[in-house]
Amino acid sequence: MATQRILDFLATRRPSGPCLVVDLDVVRDNFRAFEKAMPESKIYYAVKANPAPEILRLLASMGSSFDTASVAEIEMAMDAGAPAERISFGNTIKKERDIARAFELGIRLFAVDSVEEVEKIARAAPGARVFCRVLTDGEGAEWPLSRKFGCVPAMAVDVLRQAKVLGLDAYGVSFHVGSQQVDLSAWDRALTDAKKVFASLAEEGITLGMVNMGGGFPTRYLRDVPAAQAYGQAIFEALSKHFGNNIPETIIEPGRGMVGNAGVIKSEVVLISKKADNDNVRWVFLDIGKFGGLAETMDEAIRYPIVTERDADEKSPCVLAGPTCDSADVMYEKTPYPLPLSLTIGDEVLIEGTGAYTTTYSSVAFNGFEPLRSYVI
Ligand SMILES: *Cc1c(COP(=O)(O)O)cnc(C)c1O
Repeated sequence: MATQRILDFLATRRPSGPCLVVDLDVVRDNFRAFEKAMPESKIYYAVKANPAPEILRLLASMGSSFDTASVAEIEMAMDAGAPAERISFGNTIKKERDIARAFELGIRLFAVDSVEEVEKIARAAPGARVFCRVLTDGEGAEWPLSRKFGCVPAMAVDVLRQAKVLGLDAYGVSFHVGSQQVDLSAWDRALTDAKKVFASLAEEGITLGMVNMGGGFPTRYLRDVPAAQAYGQAIFEALSKHFGNNIPETIIEPGRGMVGNAGVIKSEVVLISKKADNDNVRWVFLDIGKFGGLAETMDEAIRYPIVTERDADEKSPCVLAGPTCDSADVMYEKTPYPLPLSLTIGDEVLIEGTGAYTTTYSSVAFNGFEPLRSYVI
């Protein structure tokens, strides 16, 4: 939703060209909602969702920790005021020299999902804490993370055992249930696997202390999603079911759920046309597309709410496309998007729920279009 502050900003500043406007008040509310819904969990904001310095500074000042994926993200979090103890290097795919640099910067918490990565960490970050990521099925997620990260629970046991052998602190298990996860039972399924790893290692005398429950908390696009409180309840019940009254330290890593609904993109209609006189589907071209920041429309996975000033008028289905000369730059075609028949070239449209995964996905200058501009207010 565009907040009044965002609407006022756009009305007074009238930025030309497409831009993202993020309302920090919404980020603050989201952080508090996570704290309230999961009071026992530490919050590690997933920096990649939106690394704007104002957002990182706000969250650092509120006591958030940070999940990072590169040395650059670690430095951004530190520049925003986060001490190294509140930063994890959560990418399971790291160069050894980046691990060493992170260690030099004071980072002591690292993600792994293979023995090969454990060996790098043992060499470059001796004695550090590691947690092993287990695969999840991603079912129920609108932006699943597939098989790229994690390993099966049986292998996680081997990975953590080897970490211990190599002098690391075998600290815990992590998972990510898939982004924009709207199935509350997804955490229960993943915690079943996490518990297996805890139990197997306990039999060998290795006691794990932490479960990193990742991100996946959704933001509202066209459909309602459960509130943070509902997620907190489901997760607490799943933790109790699997760990009884011996619940380990827990971490959550919200990205989308922290910033998605805090941002709105302002865009402009560049062209409305048809491919044949008798077509009943219009093509609407905006000044932003897949390469300008809306990469998550890939496979039409994320459907953003689009607001125009003519929404009271009758609507008809449109193909929605971006302005670049790449034929892949079409956002919605398989499922056309209903837009007002009265929509006109030059009209402004607001694309809501775009605070996460937009600015960082926009290309540098494809076709000469500048990267998505962002204002944090
Ligand atoms: C991207 C990512 C997140 C954030 O995921 P959301 O679905 O945006 O909440 C959390 N943890 C890790 C390891 C990630 O890669």
